[in-house]
Amino acid sequence: MGFLGRTPQRYSKWYNLSMIKVNLLVANANDNFSSNQLDIFNQAVVAVEKFIADNFDLDYEVDVVVVSPSYLLKTIPEDGIGGRTYRSDLIVITVDTESELSEDFFYETLCHELSHSIRWNQVSEHTVTLLDDIVLEGLAIVLEEKAMNDSGRPNVQYFLKQMHAMDEQTANDILANLKNKLNDKEYDYEKTFISGDEDLPRWAGYKLGYWLIKESLANKCTEIASATLDSYKNLKNNLKTPS
Ligand SMILES: [Zn+2]
Repeated sequence: MGFLGRTPQRYSKWYNLSMIKVNLLVANANDNFSSNQLDIFNQAVVAVEKFIADNFDLDYEVDVVVVSPSYLLKTIPEDGIGGRTYRSDLIVITVDTESELSEDFFYETLCHELSHSIRWNQVSEHTVTLLDDIVLEGLAIVLEEKAMNDSGRPNVQYFLKQMHAMDEQTANDILANLKNKLNDKEYDYEKTFISGDEDLPRWAGYKLGYWLIKESLANKCTEIASATLDSYKNLKNNLKTPS
């Protein structure tokens, strides 16, 4: 029995103290990762915990598993790293063992995935439509961007550079292409979010999400941390999408 019959976590909740814990688990059979890379993972996690604690008032714990690439565990080739959130408390980060990984890139990817993880932990709803998924990714990219800005890390990934290169014309072109599909519950995820095709640019869903969320936060003077915890209904009401 713990203090007054409460577990330590409840005890901290009772006093409204936030507790952020990122458990780093490196899948390192055969010493896939160098000691330098292991140091980078550990240092980035300390910085990430601070960023989350500075921006969210949460009792929150997540497992982060770092793995080397395989057929099912892919990276963004230009960046040598990729991430995926499987549950609110499980993130997998894939890192190329050959690449010169910087702490900045690991920190950036982890902050993106933590946006998904924190949202799923705190908001009791899931994406239903394509537009929900666009909003979900837009929130994550804007939090990723804030994490890099707040910690003074100009060395952003190729992925985020492509988001920064977005302009109104590209946003309107993507919107025009997806206009009749935004409320679809089934759509081609690979084409829309990853590969693109002759009409849709690579990462179109991410790019549009980034653009729409940035625009709506600026219009409403809202912080990304509070938007991360808002409902899809409210978030979508604030977007400038075609009617
Ligand atoms: Zn994402």
